Amino acid sequence: MTCASDRHEGGCFCGAVRYRVDGPINSVGHCHCNSCRRSAGAAFVTWFTVERERLAWTAGVPRQYASSPGVTREFCAACGTELAYSNEQAARTIDITIGSLDCAAGHPADRHIWTADKLEWLHLDEHLPAYEGWSTDG
Ligand SMILES: [Zn+2]
Ligand SMILES: [Zn+2]
Repeated sequence: MTCASDRHEGGCFCGAVRYRVDGPINSVGHCHCNSCRRSAGAAFVTWFTVERERLAWTAGVPRQYASSPGVTREFCAACGTELAYSNEQAARTIDITIGSLDCAAGHPADRHIWTADKLEWLHLDEHLPAYEGWSTDG
């Protein structure tokens, strides 16, 4: 469990897959899209976005799944934890699940995205900016 302002670590539930992110974390969003909900089996998924070169897998190799055209999701093949999301339309960056981060508590979400798909019974953090689709600033 190592997190500093410029270096963060995380991994899957069983520990087989681990990663390190260099630099700050400053883009954290709750995604309410149908694909995130179904792929995680959760009401929504919270992601942080970093430039691809700032992520290094430090243990294990995540399995990949093409969840829709141009989109790849990565998860631990042993325990199933969803870890990463890549979209060809934003090839410079990668999204990582905040729940897999060792220091998730220190990085609150700053937005909701894809609220057009949000479950109607879900109400939380409604003071945050909300976007029906992608947010404009990544
Ligand atoms: Zn695992
Ligand atoms: Zn999503």
